[in-house]
Amino acid sequence: MTNPLLIRGSLSQSMENYLKAIFEILEHDERATTSSIADRMGIAPPSVTAMVKKLAELKLVSHEPYQGVTLTRVGEMAAVEVVRHHRLIEKYLADALGVPWDMVHDEAERLEHVISEDLEDRIDGALGHPTVDPHGAPIPARDGTVVRVVAQPLVDAAGGDHVVVVEVDDRDPSLLRYLGERRLYPGTAVEVVRVEPYGGSTVLRIEGAEVAIGRDAAAMIRVAPNAAPSEEARP
Ligand SMILES: [Zn+2]
Repeated sequence: MTNPLLIRGSLSQSMENYLKAIFEILEHDERATTSSIADRMGIAPPSVTAMVKKLAELKLVSHEPYQGVTLTRVGEMAAVEVVRHHRLIEKYLADALGVPWDMVHDEAERLEHVISEDLEDRIDGALGHPTVDPHGAPIPARDGTVVRVVAQPLVDAAGGDHVVVVEVDDRDPSLLRYLGERRLYPGTAVEVVRVEPYGGSTVLRIEGAEVAIGRDAAAMIRVAPNAAPSEEARP
């Protein structure tokens, strides 16, 4: 995907990381504020304030009081480009090279800034134009369109819900190992048995076995209603 309004390589890696972080906050319908951007990137809020100002001067973002930071059309195109690189690289590392799903993110964080458009196309073609990455996040198409499945955090589900895992947060390798050990991959069908009160665990039935996961983990998993739940796990 080429962006006619930006000269490729004109943005620093740091700027690309900010645009990507803002895109990823907004794609989950959350507000991109100085503190949510700082939180996501593990950076101190004053640095975020300075960079947002710089990005606003370049007309890549706009920052309205009470509205938070939004991407301009050009800013969104630049963000989508980096996100497409990141998610395609993750998919390639996982599927073609067998890199475990908890290790692909950190590799992609580095490679996303440096691959050429030609390599991007070749990876896309070799994988058969995939639409989701190993963590369930949508891979933007070459023309920049993003098809997103409507999903809610698992922590908001209730006992008796039948859901399917759509996406898991990809940034914490230990969380991904925790989820992998419990077979909580995108596409896994899950029955919510009950949610313990007062911020307790969410008890799930996965492939017939009961599994309790902590509230923090349940907040990192996004699920959609499962239209055709299996009956085999009924007691
Ligand atoms: Zn990632």
